[in-house]
Amino acid sequence: MSIYLDNHSTTRLDPRVLEAMLPWLTDHYGNAGSVTHEMGRAARAAVESAREIFAASIGATAREIVFTSGATESINLAILGSVSRRGLGEQGQGHDFQQSHRPDQPDSQKTGHLITVATEHNAVLDTLDHVERLGHAVTQLPVFQEQSWLPGSHRQGVVGQLSLDELTAAFRPDTFLVSVMLANNEIGSIQNIPAIAQRVHAHGALLHVDCAQGLGRMPVSVSTMEADLASFSAHKFHGPKGVGALYVRRSGRAVRIDPLVFGGGQERGMRSGTLDVPGIVGMATAAQLAVAGLPVEAARMRELRDMLWSLLSQSIEGIAINGPPLNDPEVRLVNNLNVRVAGIEGESLLATLSADGLAVSSGSACSSESPRPSHVLLAIGLDSDQARASLRFGFSRFTTSDEVVEAATRIAAGVARLRRL
Ligand SMILES: *Cc1c(COP(=O)(O)O)cnc(C)c1O
Repeated sequence: MSIYLDNHSTTRLDPRVLEAMLPWLTDHYGNAGSVTHEMGRAARAAVESAREIFAASIGATAREIVFTSGATESINLAILGSVSRRGLGEQGQGHDFQQSHRPDQPDSQKTGHLITVATEHNAVLDTLDHVERLGHAVTQLPVFQEQSWLPGSHRQGVVGQLSLDELTAAFRPDTFLVSVMLANNEIGSIQNIPAIAQRVHAHGALLHVDCAQGLGRMPVSVSTMEADLASFSAHKFHGPKGVGALYVRRSGRAVRIDPLVFGGGQERGMRSGTLDVPGIVGMATAAQLAVAGLPVEAARMRELRDMLWSLLSQSIEGIAINGPPLNDPEVRLVNNLNVRVAGIEGESLLATLSADGLAVSSGSACSSESPRPSHVLLAIGLDSDQARASLRFGFSRFTTSDEVVEAATRIAAGVARLRRL
């Protein structure tokens, strides 16, 4: 029996999502941009209906949604699109139309300062490395570490969260964009986005939120979060791979960013290219299912996650949890468990488990081909041996309690085998 517990990396396509997609992959193959005939108009109508459904699922309105190829592209569009817009002099401290049309604008007004967090996904960190090479300044905030709750620690807070005081102290007069993830893909830590948004807006900057891990695991509303830009990926909530969305705020203070991809002018010119009609329909269906099922599924995944931890902690000496406490769904994703096993080489354990048909991950999937310890685990204060001794588990709608019991047995056996060697 193969068991899939790597749901932060990707999730299984829900059969109901496939069902909704199939007509658009077969008979209804029109181009949503070619509306001079019925085939095209049907595709256009499907896309616009999906836009309404997806927007409603995240607390947005349809005209605030730009469909993309996934969270990586959405993140690139949010960050590079904001940077490019600033280069045109139309953002930062208010909207100065006169200034944007001044031809001899000095460079110091075109470059600026961006803030992010050490535990962000590489889609954010690597994009910001590029932005730094373009001449902008980037500050990477630290997060609260393991042990930071101990009396005597000078930095006290929830493991994996940033300090609001440190955020406030990091602002510069030219800070124009802050990028913070909603929930972490390795340790499941949840940032206090509404409080962060309040500080960012008080400073006159924009807030981008990487929401890839949130939908279907916690309530996600861009309006409650007060995000200006927010990135989503369908395959993280049982939708298809290769489709995502960027939320661009239009209500209240409208956000303006530049496109990265030019051409046919689709998505109001924000993202040219023929639309992936089946993918978009699938993402909307998946989002609807994620929101409708959340109360039941969140409780179920949390129970399974707690069960795995209980079984592992009973059978394995020297095992510990990485990240925030499991008992508070406001600070840790209900479907996440990340543990370290003293004296074990995670890569060897992973190899044993994988031979047993158990799919889990050490560190993030995106960096797991290289032996480097996870930057997230290092950021919460683990040393590289501890980081390498860590395993990440992600639960989903399709995980069963039989699978959890079986996984715990295989992991305990794997650890025992490695320790005998
Ligand atoms: C998966 C993930 C991404 C990248 O999403 P893709 O759609 O696979 O490009 C970005 N950020 C986080 C937090 C993720 O979990």
